Amino acid sequence: MATSLCDDTLLCNFPKCRTKLRGFAWVTACSHAFCDQHGSCEFSHSPAVCPACSSTLSGKLDIVRTELSPSEEYKAMVLAGLRPDVVLDIGTRALAFWTYQIHQERLYQEYSLSRSEVQVKQLEKMLNQQNQTRELDLGAMRGEISSLKKVMEEYKRKYSEVAERLMERNRQYQKLQGLYDSLRLRNMAVAETRHAHHQHPAGVFRPPPSPRASPPFLAAGPEGDGSSLFTCPEPVRPHALYNIRTPLRDRSRVFPQNY
Ligand SMILES: [Zn+2]
Ligand SMILES: [Zn+2]
Repeated sequence: MATSLCDDTLLCNFPKCRTKLRGFAWVTACSHAFCDQHGSCEFSHSPAVCPACSSTLSGKLDIVRTELSPSEEYKAMVLAGLRPDVVLDIGTRALAFWTYQIHQERLYQEYSLSRSEVQVKQLEKMLNQQNQTRELDLGAMRGEISSLKKVMEEYKRKYSEVAERLMERNRQYQKLQGLYDSLRLRNMAVAETRHAHHQHPAGVFRPPPSPRASPPFLAAGPEGDGSSLFTCPEPVRPHALYNIRTPLRDRSRVFPQNY
């Protein structure tokens, strides 16, 4: 409406054409107007039917191809000689045609506007629904994140507890190990002292402190059996016998077993 009013131009009434009418236009008795292309196409066969309202246009002057910007000569002569009431009648009918076209265009624009408003409302509603859905999703996700955080905190707490317990156990273990070590050392010392009090000063883990102490220690081992087979002096005989049976490094282990 606004466009046609501002431009003072009618639009083709052919469905979905809406071309601005310029030059020549086809106008009908049912007050419709068409562009030159659609008019010449639609009204070439008879009986002609209006493409806008389906009225039959069979009268001689029901369809007129008119020049929209007539020449000065035409305007000077077309109504010349007619009585004033006839001139006014013609003008009134022409204005009625124009008013009808403007009214139709206005109705069309209002219809388009209301349809667009409905579409906008539908879109708004859809967007609102989507937003609500997203808000809900977001809320659910936030809840999930917070619960997962809680679970993580719980795990962290448990981990630190376990780590603390492990450290405590480690401390206890170290203490026990220390106790065990000291006890073992004491036992060893006691055993050494006991050995020293008996005839074996060499002890369990050490070689004989002096060559002089060795023969008596070795003499006790084999209980003197088979000593008569050897011609060596008495203290040396068992020593020679054991040298045959065991390797040198095992001697310290073998003697305490026999003892
Ligand atoms: Zn057209
Ligand atoms: Zn019509």
